[in-house]
Amino acid sequence: MDSPDAFDTPRAALSTPLLQRNRLLGALSTEARLRLLPSVDLVQVRTGQSLDPARGAARRAYFPITAMASVCQVSPSGESTQVALVGPEGMVGFPLLTGSEAPWLRSTVQLPGAVLAVDGARLAQEFRRGDTTTQVLLGYMHTLMAQMAQAALCHRHHSIEQQLARWLLATADRMAVREIASTQEMVAGLLGVRREGVTEAAGRLRDAGLIACRRGHFTLLDTRGLRARACSCYAVLQSGQDSGAGAGTAGQPPRTGTSTTEQEEQSHPDHVPLAA
Ligand SMILES: [Zn+2]
Repeated sequence: MDSPDAFDTPRAALSTPLLQRNRLLGALSTEARLRLLPSVDLVQVRTGQSLDPARGAARRAYFPITAMASVCQVSPSGESTQVALVGPEGMVGFPLLTGSEAPWLRSTVQLPGAVLAVDGARLAQEFRRGDTTTQVLLGYMHTLMAQMAQAALCHRHHSIEQQLARWLLATADRMAVREIASTQEMVAGLLGVRREGVTEAAGRLRDAGLIACRRGHFTLLDTRGLRARACSCYAVLQSGQDSGAGAGTAGQPPRTGTSTTEQEEQSHPDHVPLAA
């Protein structure tokens, strides 16, 4: 599993509006974004690539723009369960800020696309300033901890069908899409359950007219119905997302309080071309 250290886009193409495509960076002050800009690269990542700073040559934090990463807890014997999703609302690489190591957590690209790679030492320096950047990153750290705690409860108490519905909605919300490129095997690995369990659950959601499944793709057809089948974790995490990092902070409009899947016919907001 390789790490995205190669730069696919010249640094000269970067701009502060591009940084705002990640909501966490968008919540920083304009001055903070300008200070960070020389330490940022735009990187294209592929499904399955590792985003763990320790696994690449460079120690960098990753802020997704159009990609999504899953954070998994991995046991020494290789068992794995997803504990958090990170899309354009978040970042991967918190150990770089705290100077700690988290070898049991693995961050892997789940949906391919663009991420902003930020030099870890430079970001840590910005984090220690004690201003808006500190507040925004601490706020997101809280959101991430809430996701992990909720994941523990969810895996223990909620059915595979409920978890699958939650995962589909959460992924669609982050990426502002209705079609998700992922195999049932990948989803089973992320949820830490048997593939057969995901196949059965997906079949029930499909028979109810809520989703369509074809090889390697899920399409959300009825998000209202899917929300009714999802476990309560979806609403809990959604409200945490809306009140968490970036809401009402400098430089970025607050979240709307409405999930992407609730905004049935809206297109992706605040679109800035990647080459801007
Ligand atoms: Zn749950």
